[in-house]
Amino acid sequence: MRETLVLNASFEPLSTVSLRRAVVLVMQDKAVVENAHPGLRIRAASVDVPVPRVIRLSRYVRVPFRRRAPWSRRGVLVRDQHRCAYCGRRATTVDHVMPRAQGGADSWLNTVASCAEDNHRKADRTPEQAGMRLLRKPFEPTPADALLSALGVSVREELPDWLGALPA
Ligand SMILES: [Zn+2]
Repeated sequence: MRETLVLNASFEPLSTVSLRRAVVLVMQDKAVVENAHPGLRIRAASVDVPVPRVIRLSRYVRVPFRRRAPWSRRGVLVRDQHRCAYCGRRATTVDHVMPRAQGGADSWLNTVASCAEDNHRKADRTPEQAGMRLLRKPFEPTPADALLSALGVSVREELPDWLGALPA
């Protein structure tokens, strides 16, 4: 899938996103097309838009992290959209999957957002030891993830199928 460059409203380059994400941002009026592939259009149902090479955000967005994001508790909560990795309810704490007491690191791949109740219940145990299951795997956020979360677009959101059938 080809990538589209995203500019902030101030024209500062922010990130790249997949063509599908770029089209969704344009359809949601969150971005405008600055540069498009000549002669290529996306047509489906009620949609007819140019195939964007560069889009610019309609409103200025302060992006929470850029390039390789340094780990932080706040960053983990933002990445996980304040949803508990064990029960899906609102999370206010950060849990170490491999507990620090057992040598677990402060890292993107070892930490998840957790509600206080599940964090307390899990204590200094791994999910296996505590008989708890992670609803999703922790991941290291990319600049595109950061940008999409700043725009309020769910990072792992499903997109319409027809966006997969674009001209190459
Ligand atoms: Zn929970």
